[in-house]
Amino acid sequence: MKNSILLFSILFSISISAQTDSKIYDIIDAVSEERLRNDVKTLADFGTRHTLSDTLSETRGIGAARRWIKGQFDNISKECNNCLEVFYQKDLVKKGTNQRIVHDVMVVNVVAIQRGTKYPNRYIIMSGDIDSRVSSPTDFTSDSPGANDNATGMAGAIEAARILSKYKFESSVVYLGLSGEEQGLFGGQGMAKYAQENNWDIIGVLNNDMIGNISGVDGVVDNRTFRIFSEPTTTGETDAEKLKRQARARRFYGGEVDGISRQLARYVYETTKTYMPEMNPMMVYRLDRFGRGGHHRPFNDVGFAGIRIMEAHENYTQQHQDIRTENGINYGDTFEHVNFPYCKKLTAVNAITMASLASAPPAPKEVGIGGIVEASAKLQWNKVEGAKGYKIYWRDTTSPTWDNSRYVGDVTEFTLDGIVIDNALFGVAAVGENGHESTVVFPNKIMR
Ligand SMILES: [Zn+2]
Repeated sequence: MKNSILLFSILFSISISAQTDSKIYDIIDAVSEERLRNDVKTLADFGTRHTLSDTLSETRGIGAARRWIKGQFDNISKECNNCLEVFYQKDLVKKGTNQRIVHDVMVVNVVAIQRGTKYPNRYIIMSGDIDSRVSSPTDFTSDSPGANDNATGMAGAIEAARILSKYKFESSVVYLGLSGEEQGLFGGQGMAKYAQENNWDIIGVLNNDMIGNISGVDGVVDNRTFRIFSEPTTTGETDAEKLKRQARARRFYGGEVDGISRQLARYVYETTKTYMPEMNPMMVYRLDRFGRGGHHRPFNDVGFAGIRIMEAHENYTQQHQDIRTENGINYGDTFEHVNFPYCKKLTAVNAITMASLASAPPAPKEVGIGGIVEASAKLQWNKVEGAKGYKIYWRDTTSPTWDNSRYVGDVTEFTLDGIVIDNALFGVAAVGENGHESTVVFPNKIMR
């Protein structure tokens, strides 16, 4: 009897201190490798999904592909009592806009919105790409299966919709198929502009681009590690005067590696470590791969938080290549190279991040910090409606992740005694009734 009480109290205290939500484990388990495999196969079988390819055929080209994607979202919506708002968002891009646009083209994105119950205008977005390419970026007729780049990201977004549509969330969740990526990030630009014009309050964009390769061109095979790319700070739509002021403030108070996209990246890292400890999320402190692009950037350009989630080990003989055999190497981004157990894991990383963020209250908007020449750090923030309390995070100045935290309850000011402000960086997150947390906000006000 005594033992069982002891056991109960141990279990109880574990469940309280760990602050995990069993729904999140259910979401991980629900991701289907088989459905991802089928969807990537279907997308690859459209022959080419080049942005400039045929739009009239029912079996080949980007038109057939986007209609199929929209059909998938429509079917998912039927299964959840029309819980998704599914539509095309499109913009005409004129011939010659850049060298890769060799004829006028309607760049068409497919959007599916699962409306939030409490914050309908706050959005957490998962994106993949519809389009594909081969060696020449203007070759819109050759076979271009784009199985890994980027049918995997697209299939991941569809699969996330199948799973998360079974739940209700406080904030809106968006599943997004973007076009025109390989021609110059046109779909992302169009969608970012649409979000701006409709005053979307974006929590963040999780851009998935290549989430299915585990066998690198460097010979490394790794089905546990993935990369999270994030720009250090947001410079989008900031005027020169403001940039100067920001640079000056960062010189004295820090913040040069603590922009909103970086906080979103840390959130993905932390959520993965909590719920999928077998995975190795790798924070990469740059916008994207060296000199290369992705569809989170147009969102960053206009000031939204956005990151790129992708495999850790790329294989360049299977990216942007004509299908051919040369010196014994099979070139081309074909279906058989994709690793679906891995694609499933990265889809789950996205799904649990979105479920957590869409369940959390908004982050505090204003966070102040003070504590100069004191053996403590004092933080102050605005009250967030819907928050049960707040959590202060801090880390060594050289650490990439928020390694220390303290839940301080329902207050809007707290002093961390004995934590010298000089030796750490700090931030504040809002915590919901259900235990889910917002992203961390780096101080944007100095208290003297
Ligand atoms: Zn690509």
